[in-house]
Amino acid sequence: MAKYIFITGGVVSGLGKGITSASLAYLLKSHGYHVAMQKFDPYLNVDPGTMSPYQHGEVYVTDDGTETDLDLGHYERFAGVRCDRHSNYTSGKIYSSVIAREREGGYLGATVQMIPHITDEIKEAIRSAAKPGIDIVMTEIGGTAGDIESLPFLEAVRQFKNEAGTGNAIVIHLTLVPFIKSVGEMKTKPSQQSVSILHNIGIFPDVLVCRTEVAMAEEQRRKLSLFCNVPDDYVIEERDVQHSIYEVPQELADRGLDNKVLELLRLPVTESHLDDWHELLDRVLHPQKSCRIALVGKYAGLRDAYKSIFESFAHAGIALSTKVTCDMVEAEELETDCSKLDAYDALLVPGGFGSRGVEGKIAALRHARTHGIPTLGICLGMQCMVIEYARSVLNYNAANSTEFDEATAYPVIDLMENQRGVTSKGGTMRLGAYPCQLVKGSLAAKLYSELSISERHRHRFEYNNAYRAELEKAGLKVCGTSPDNSLVEMVELPDHPYYIGCQFHPEFKSRPFAPHPLFVGLVQAALNHQIKE
Ligand code: GLN
Repeated sequence: MAKYIFITGGVVSGLGKGITSASLAYLLKSHGYHVAMQKFDPYLNVDPGTMSPYQHGEVYVTDDGTETDLDLGHYERFAGVRCDRHSNYTSGKIYSSVIAREREGGYLGATVQMIPHITDEIKEAIRSAAKPGIDIVMTEIGGTAGDIESLPFLEAVRQFKNEAGTGNAIVIHLTLVPFIKSVGEMKTKPSQQSVSILHNIGIFPDVLVCRTEVAMAEEQRRKLSLFCNVPDDYVIEERDVQHSIYEVPQELADRGLDNKVLELLRLPVTESHLDDWHELLDRVLHPQKSCRIALVGKYAGLRDAYKSIFESFAHAGIALSTKVTCDMVEAEELETDCSKLDAYDALLVPGGFGSRGVEGKIAALRHARTHGIPTLGICLGMQCMVIEYARSVLNYNAANSTEFDEATAYPVIDLMENQRGVTSKGGTMRLGAYPCQLVKGSLAAKLYSELSISERHRHRFEYNNAYRAELEKAGLKVCGTSPDNSLVEMVELPDHPYYIGCQFHPEFKSRPFAPHPLFVGLVQAALNHQIKE
């Protein structure tokens, strides 16, 4: 039978519950256990697919096409677990399936209630992650203890823990122990109060993980242990890491979190193997080279909106022993003047929806194309590459995507046939993993070192094949297509040092130990560009 770990958060949001959970999962895997991870989000959207990145950051897409919370990216990257539609449940997803069942007569005769119907549905979702072969299921509860929204999830955790019995399910509460500068002291009160909220609803955390800025004194640990009813040994400090989130697993291992969790779950405390991670961390902390990349996006300052892209650069940096500094450049500011871009060694134009910033992205691409600046265009970024080329090289000045100009005379990017007339917005795009066939001899094929690849998608619009022959003849080569050749998946410019666009999102598949070839290629091209200068 699988064992269960629930991670709750207290005091404030943004404590890095996702990174902590993923780091612990990595440690447990390094002991030889098979771990599944999932996240519950207490909002009413059925999935984050319809939300602006301003709300919850990037929407992370899994192979099976589920639009999920960005924490699932940490799970896949750090812990190396595979996420799917059972890995992210929102209140909306839970409620809508209960309501749908009620309409079908599934509860005939009963009054459908929060307890037991909603909580049963949540418990079923927890169990759904315990597939054959899984030793430990780790479930992160989004939100902060005390939120009205997360109450049904916490109630389900209370019931689940009770039913599973001692040693089969534990709760780890991640909390903040702030250092108050004016008094020069750490304060435990917010954590005491947050744990007392959990006590009030019948959840008694087994482990307290305390986010701290400075080292925690013995006195604070004792206080937390006493007031929070958690044995002294199970009050674990998780101090802010100095340089990189890649330090977190080591920090938690140093405090013995993995061993304590295994003891509590009555699992053998096997030896852990962290050599690979140590090597990785060493590369992260001691890069030999550096480069600067501009991310031409539209959510200035909101790094979470492009989380997986930043992570992919970190992975490429690890592979090439390079510190990659990636700055966000507001696309709208480039509409009339792109000189800002000359300070960078390479460019990345990411995906996006809606017209704001598109003209700036097109201007940036024109600049990069004509100045030999290495560039990767992702999804909307690739679409903008096609628009820019059609405008500048084919002289189709009005070329556009029908997403931005429905009546354009040159719809070089257009809706897929099956998307015409679709009015609903949630979960209706081309989503998830699709195979792609690369063109022999292309830069793409060289980078991937194989011809059949699979990448994750999230878009409605596509390269319009009606312009394919003309664009190719003019120099913008198609280097990847769907296996039946009906959809263009990648384009590149052979005469350019590195100018490549993909309709999919490579950033979702990059891993610390398996950096994505398109990012490694871009960083390498950035380094070459630097040397040339
Ligand atoms: N808005 C574009 C489309 O729907 C691109 C989407 C994206 O970049 N993820 O096709």
